Amino acid sequence: MADLADLVIIGASYAGTQLALAARANGFAGPITMIGDEPHAPYQRPPLSKGFLRDEVDASSLPLQSPERFAEERIVLRTGVRALRIDRDARTVELSDGSAIGYDRLALTTGARCRTLLCDGAELGNVYYLRDLADARAIRDAASRARHAVVVGGGFIGLEVAAALRKLGLDVTVVEMQERLLQRAVPPLISSFLMQAHEQQGVRFRMSSRVRRLVGQATVAAVELESGEVIAADMVVAGLGVVPNVELAEACGLVVDNGIVVDAFARTSDPSIVAAGDCASYPNPWLNASGQGGSANHCVRVESIQSANDLARVAAATVADRATPYDAVPWFWSDQYGYKLQMVGASAGHEQIVLRGDVASGKFTALYLRDGTLIGADSVNRPIDHMAVRRLVAARLRPDPVVLGDESIALKSLAPA
Ligand code: ADP
Repeated sequence: MADLADLVIIGASYAGTQLALAARANGFAGPITMIGDEPHAPYQRPPLSKGFLRDEVDASSLPLQSPERFAEERIVLRTGVRALRIDRDARTVELSDGSAIGYDRLALTTGARCRTLLCDGAELGNVYYLRDLADARAIRDAASRARHAVVVGGGFIGLEVAAALRKLGLDVTVVEMQERLLQRAVPPLISSFLMQAHEQQGVRFRMSSRVRRLVGQATVAAVELESGEVIAADMVVAGLGVVPNVELAEACGLVVDNGIVVDAFARTSDPSIVAAGDCASYPNPWLNASGQGGSANHCVRVESIQSANDLARVAAATVADRATPYDAVPWFWSDQYGYKLQMVGASAGHEQIVLRGDVASGKFTALYLRDGTLIGADSVNRPIDHMAVRRLVAARLRPDPVVLGDESIALKSLAPA
């Protein structure tokens, strides 16, 4: 029997796990080793900023796959180990435990890390970021003792954390440097809706505001804004976005540009190395570099579980010599209080918005059109609309806007046969 190829995966979260399983599903027969620096097997991350923070979700329910499943699929998981260096000539990876592992195919699913505050006082105690289970545990712990929280950043992490802390009874102020919430992700209509939802729950906002410094002895006591305002805080959580973990790729000479650059088949500039997940920048036919919908094949880095899973499946097919290009329509969701916001496709670059339902009722869908094509939609508490729009966007539907907004016509009935 010929020697089987070895697949080594660096990074053990969504993309790594999906890549390993999908490689097997695609018939990859050789040894698969997944290396992760966290002490745990891969786990679900969305609950970390939601139910887990509110103490409603237990860590035991978080694993992405059971140990039995990994064993059945002959996927060897090495946790608590970091990859330190890739030698592309020797096709080996040096690990933090002093060992090295050889590969025929290498996958980089190294993810991203939190952007951190750089102001004076940023090193004080009780200042948190949220990315992994250890971070979530620390925030939950601090929240059980704190009364006043300042959340810096009005993005998805900031807003979900604000909602969770508010539910736990803390007094919460969100500081956001832009003039509206989630500016990168949604149009003003959705930003305003969410801001109102939070205000109704008692969250305070300081928009167009920057932090000058954090004040305190050892632990934080207050946040001073550039306006001079001082906000009391016995804990601070910053959700400022992420930076991709590209250092390993960069050090071994792969092309990196706001992420490890891959083609539509998830191949890096070295044909035996693929990448997927938050660390990868890839041509997404539904999004272009400025975050706009459309077909321009510019590379984008998409921070979502959908993107991680779908690009990982593409990478797995490539590894198994069954290459098929990436084509999945992007989608994403966020839960805040009783509102489930579900996003599909693109909203940036839209020329027309068609509404179904009444924004004030807290149950509506905003559909985005550009050049007559449906490019995306945001839904609040309308999961059926969301599922239908995924298919309509995939079909590049060019709907009559009047029909699109007519609630007596089910969205799914607009899908081409
Ligand atoms: P995350 O996944 O961390 O929520 P997002 O990109 O969705 O990332 O949101 C990050 C938010 O933080 C954005 O709204 C951005 O404007 C805001 N932000 C980034 N840096 C600062 C800062 N120094 N002070 C206040 N807000 C910030």
